[in-house]
Amino acid sequence: MFESVRKAFGDVFDGLHRKGLLSQGDIDAALAEVKIALLGADVDYRVVKTFIARTREACLDEKVLKSMSPGDQVIKVLYEELTHTLGGQGGKGIALTHIPFRVMLVGLQGSGKTTTLGKLALLLKKEGHYPLLIPGDFGRPAAYEQLQKLATDADVSFYGGSFGSVEELLQGADRWARDKSLDVLLLDTQGRHEFDTQLMEELEKVGRLYYPDETLIVLDAMIGSKAIPLAQSFDRVAPLTGAIFTKFDSPAQGGAVLSFKEAIGKPIRYIGVGEHLEDLDYFVPERHAARIVGYGDMDGLLKRYSEAETQANAANVARKVQSGRFDLYDLREQLLEIGRVGGINKMLESLPSAVVPSGAVVDEGLAKRFMAIIDSMTDVERRNPAILNASRKRRIARGAGVDVREINRMLKQFELFSRMARMAGNKHAGGLGLPRF
Ligand code: GDP
Ligand code: MG
Repeated sequence: MFESVRKAFGDVFDGLHRKGLLSQGDIDAALAEVKIALLGADVDYRVVKTFIARTREACLDEKVLKSMSPGDQVIKVLYEELTHTLGGQGGKGIALTHIPFRVMLVGLQGSGKTTTLGKLALLLKKEGHYPLLIPGDFGRPAAYEQLQKLATDADVSFYGGSFGSVEELLQGADRWARDKSLDVLLLDTQGRHEFDTQLMEELEKVGRLYYPDETLIVLDAMIGSKAIPLAQSFDRVAPLTGAIFTKFDSPAQGGAVLSFKEAIGKPIRYIGVGEHLEDLDYFVPERHAARIVGYGDMDGLLKRYSEAETQANAANVARKVQSGRFDLYDLREQLLEIGRVGGINKMLESLPSAVVPSGAVVDEGLAKRFMAIIDSMTDVERRNPAILNASRKRRIARGAGVDVREINRMLKQFELFSRMARMAGNKHAGGLGLPRF
């Protein structure tokens, strides 16, 4: 999967690393190659266009970090943008928000719907749920037996009651689920050939009767960018909530996978990675982005990056303090940074130990309140907090919904922060300790 794109990315990175310093021209040339690779892998051209524009913008926005090579910074940007294109951080499949939860799989004939439904039943069972497999494919005589066998293999419930119509099937399955206290209904549907109007009308009717919480389109990973108009045509009759890509174990280029989220606006939930019942995984965008980028130790690179960023930020603060330009705008930036790096503990970890005061603890709730206080000030007050007299403080306290004492506390921290930054700035070229909030 993704081989051709991975190879192209590898070549691009080799080129960037050989260069050392990068000009805008170098980055544009690298992105031009990335673009060719993505189009070559049959990624939807609008998705490619957006991706390249966003990545270029993000590269331009990158700060120059002394301790990172520009090549590594480009890798980090591409990884982040790819993660975004694939759906963002996370990926834990579907969340069963109520009982009974109704899932329906739709898609072309042979895409892997029935097999995937069995796999999904097993996965949900492993998560602690009680699935019911419902044989809703009336088109193929063998579909009923195929699903029944999967149910036996996965050791989950199968609706085998008699029925003569979709209505009867769904009503019967509903009753069955209630009687047996099953919490998730999984409906198979008839495989459609592309743009078959009559079948599409039937699917619309099934959707209306079944009232699904999740309608997932099952797509063969080999399909390429024509997955997009196909998904759109399904979405019109059976509004999709996401996708499952099958045959990830094949040598597909992955164009459809890379296109889906950005083009359809719905997440990829799972991937099929083989023919066995256990071969269904959650789709985790950042993991695939890391694989595509092909950098051996992405976690290590991200950690080095965040350290370099924290240091650069600290050096910048120290410079400002020393030149007497550190004001409440800067403090606000610092407080925001606390949230951005995912909690203060993470930020402390990433700092060189020499500059972290022992036992430094920052309460994130406090950081939020301090920010609210700063937000309630006027521009003049933020630039020159020395002018804050009692009446100004009362006004600000009202605006921020806090006690005046909280403002005094914040100002004390501001003093402390400036002092520590000055000290650290003197000791270290660019190191900074955090104040104790
Ligand atoms: P349906 O017509 O959409 O219901 O498709 P089926 O579930 O009958 O699957 C069609 C074929 O694809 C079967 O031979 C499956 O074993 C195969 N298949 C489904 N998912 C995967 C997968 O993730 N990897 C591989 N290698 N084969 C798969
Ligand atoms: Mg089937």
